[in-house]
Amino acid sequence: MSSEQDKNKYLLKELLGRPGNGSCADCGAADTEWASYTLGVFVCPSCAGLHGNIPNISSVKSVLRDSWSNTEVEFMASTGNDAAKAKYEQKVPAFYYRPTHSDCQLLREQWIRARYDRNEFVCLERQEPYSAEQKIREIFQISVLQYYTAISRLLLPYFLKEMVDWFNAIRAARFHYLQVAFPGAHDADLVPKLTRKYIKEGYMEKTGPKHTEGFKKRWFTMDDRRLMYFKDPLDAYARGEVFIGSGENSYTVLPGLPPLTQGYHWQFGITIVTPDRKFLFACATEVDQREWMAAFQTVINRPMLPQEYAVEAHFKHKP
Ligand SMILES: [Zn+2]
Repeated sequence: MSSEQDKNKYLLKELLGRPGNGSCADCGAADTEWASYTLGVFVCPSCAGLHGNIPNISSVKSVLRDSWSNTEVEFMASTGNDAAKAKYEQKVPAFYYRPTHSDCQLLREQWIRARYDRNEFVCLERQEPYSAEQKIREIFQISVLQYYTAISRLLLPYFLKEMVDWFNAIRAARFHYLQVAFPGAHDADLVPKLTRKYIKEGYMEKTGPKHTEGFKKRWFTMDDRRLMYFKDPLDAYARGEVFIGSGENSYTVLPGLPPLTQGYHWQFGITIVTPDRKFLFACATEVDQREWMAAFQTVINRPMLPQEYAVEAHFKHKP
C-alpha cells in the first residue's frame, strides 16, 4: 500500500470521528463504514446499497477497504454528515416521516431519493403536494390501461414512491388535525402524536347534556385523557370531546346509567361524572363496557400533570 493510501486511510478515520459522521447520514445507524464521495456523506452498509440505486447522484465506497484519492478525501473533509443535513434538510415538513435504521428499505430508499435526487427539502417548489385531496385527484387521472401498464416492473419505482407519498399525505392530514385539536402547541410536541395509538376506540351510544335527547351511536377514540366522538370513524373532525381528569379532581366512572334514563338501545351503560356534568354512554356488549370502563379508570387513577390542567381549563372555556 502506498504512503498516499496510508495517509488517506488515516484522514478518513479521523473524519469518521468528527461530530455527525459517526452515525449514518440517512438512517442514523451507528456503523458508517461507507461513504458517498459524490454527495460527501458517511452512511451505513445498508443505506450505501440504496445509494447504489441512484448512480446518477451518488457513488459509494467502503471507507476502510476501497482506495481513495486525495481529491475525494478532501471533498469528504469539506462536507460530511452535518453539512449535508444543513444542505438537504432545509425544509423538511414537520409531519414528514424520517426513517430510522429499523425501518423497511422502501421508506429509507424514498427518503434518500427525496433528499438527494428530488431535492424536495431544499426548495418548497419541489415538494410533493402532500394533501389528500391532491392525491385523490391524481389517482382519478390514471386510466385502467395506465394502471395495468404500471404494474409492470418499469413503473414499479413510481408506485413505491406513490406509497410513501400516501403514507406522508396521511401524516400531513393527521398533523393538520392535531394542530386544530391542540391550538398553540409546538410542532415538535405534535409530531410524536402522529404515531400514537389510541388507548381504546369503538362505537358507543351517547346522549346530550340534558339526558333527554335520545341516545345516538357515535365512534369514540380515546387518546390519553381526550375522549373524542365522530359520526363516522373516517370523519376528519370530531363532533365533540370529553376531558377525563383524575379521581382526586372529582372525575369518576361508574357502570350503568342513572335510574329513569331513557332513549338508549344498547344495554351496557357507563356514567362518567366530571365536576361539571354527567356523561352517559351505552355499549353494545358487556366486553365493550368492561374495556371502556378499564380505559377510563386507568386515566382517572393517574394524577394530572401540570400541562393537563391547562388542557382541562381549555375544555371548560369552550362555548
Ligand atoms: Zn443507514
